[in-house]
Amino acid sequence: MSEEITSTNFIQDFVKEDIKEGGQYEGKTVHTRFPPEPNGYMHIGHAKAICVDFGTAEKFGGICNLRMDDTNPTKEDVEYVDAIKEDIHWLGFDWDDRFFFASEYFDEMYGYAVELIKKGLAYVCQLSAEEMRANRGDLTTPATSPYRDRPIEESLDLFERMKNGEFEDGSMTLRAKIDLASGNFNMRDPVIYRINRISHHRTGNKWCIYPMYDFAHPIEDAIEGITHSLCTLEFEAHRPLYDWVINNISAPCKPRQIEFARLGINNTVMSKRRLRQLVEDGYVAGWDDPRMPTLCGLRRRGYTPASIRNFCERIGVTKVNSTVEYSFLENCLREDLNENAQRIMCVLRPVKLVITNYPEGQSESFEVENNPQRPEDGMRTITFSREVYIEADDFLEEKVKGYNRFYPGNEVRLKSAYIVKCTGCEKDEQGNVTTVFAEYDPETRGGDTPDGRKVRGTVHWVDAENCLDAEVRLYDNLFTDPEPDTGDKNFLDYINPDSLEILKGCKLERSAEGAQAPKSYQFMRLGYFCIDKDSTPDALIFNRSVSLKDGFKKK
Ligand code: ATP
Ligand code: MG
Repeated sequence: MSEEITSTNFIQDFVKEDIKEGGQYEGKTVHTRFPPEPNGYMHIGHAKAICVDFGTAEKFGGICNLRMDDTNPTKEDVEYVDAIKEDIHWLGFDWDDRFFFASEYFDEMYGYAVELIKKGLAYVCQLSAEEMRANRGDLTTPATSPYRDRPIEESLDLFERMKNGEFEDGSMTLRAKIDLASGNFNMRDPVIYRINRISHHRTGNKWCIYPMYDFAHPIEDAIEGITHSLCTLEFEAHRPLYDWVINNISAPCKPRQIEFARLGINNTVMSKRRLRQLVEDGYVAGWDDPRMPTLCGLRRRGYTPASIRNFCERIGVTKVNSTVEYSFLENCLREDLNENAQRIMCVLRPVKLVITNYPEGQSESFEVENNPQRPEDGMRTITFSREVYIEADDFLEEKVKGYNRFYPGNEVRLKSAYIVKCTGCEKDEQGNVTTVFAEYDPETRGGDTPDGRKVRGTVHWVDAENCLDAEVRLYDNLFTDPEPDTGDKNFLDYINPDSLEILKGCKLERSAEGAQAPKSYQFMRLGYFCIDKDSTPDALIFNRSVSLKDGFKKK
């Protein structure tokens, strides 16, 4: 089976090589897992990991587990667990009945720790955290612990009593006995269990000792029969420890760890802790605020699963950490919506245009395409009458070089309707333009000039006598600095005060009546917009998902 599969990244190369005999690794079909810690919502970085984990399994006809990595008894919440499941399903992946909590394996982990002690491969150490730090040595000096040669029986006894709650938090640890002189400090007899009296959200007060991540994770993988444990680059230096644990316990299988680069995106932050702070301190309206890089935020912003999967595919999987431009993500969405979104006309900052030679009380309609990219999406009807709305900035009182829209004397095409000639405007006391005037040419129905004369400008418009009102929310980067969370920067210093602009009284074609989230539209000439979840039939609310302009190519 592996013969026909063309790998598209180095992980797939490794897996392909691993399973070349009979399509299996260690006698198993490819089996991966996605192991989030349920302490926050998933973000676009997690989407990359989800695509790598589920995608690699899919590619080789294997399976992928969903595992809540909840061995650390802090900040976990069912709210997060449910949200994680929803986001993965939304992206289009499924774990079937293989949904697990790492805390379900605490008994086994304890058993494996006892096994290591019995083999002389772990010991109870009574150095405090500070003492351990002071004794960790340096590149030329090995670490030391006076407890290293403690008899096996004594460690067994102490470890059991640690579990039974006889000792203070922090007074003892269980350490793997590996190599105090190792050049890799993770191998200098790492702590594998610590005493920590914190109630766990699933196991309650059953345990007062908890396993460390580096010990727990390989065991979780082995118990679940994982063949390939795909993780981010920061675990590379931990791989020798991962392998050591797997090789020294009676593990039911020997998973292989492969690391890949984390995804970073500019002008945002990508750590659950930071994102939680933005939510809890009220900088944003919630985890699903459309400015957030969370999957629920992106979903509310109008991102489609296809656009995100496509993005993850294109950024690729490498061993080099890098920051991807936000505009690249936007480009993936723009492409999807260009293909699939219905077109309508909406005027964001309306000013009235009165067509003075069009009969009062008259109205007519035009059949226009829903989506020129997809003729199969059919046509819709738009209406036209004496008064329409145009964008305020589609009118200037005086001609400016290169400006082809409304100014007195200029001819402009009202998209799909008529050519009109601007004749002037009316202003209020403050000097703001309240009404623009024009005359239409009845010979130009549909927008074509019968005599072939050139009309440069084409603008969108909405029939003032037959339209909907809407609120439209425009978004910009949440942070003004491209990398707000690097070095000694305090990311909160770089919050963009103008990241949200709310426009009220926008005018919209009636064809959007009754639309519900997550319906997306292209507002012609403006960008792609989707219905917000707070929208109601009487009070429509749209989010701008992405503008029409391709900022990525422009740069
Ligand atoms: P955060 O720093 O956002 O809290 P984390 O690594 O602590 O991230 P986990 O819940 O442990 O979050 O992540 C689950 C999986 O997602 C891990 O395998 C992790 O490597 C991966 N992951 C997390 N962030 C990214 C990212 N930015 N790019 C790629 N993969 C990521
Ligand atoms: Mg983590």
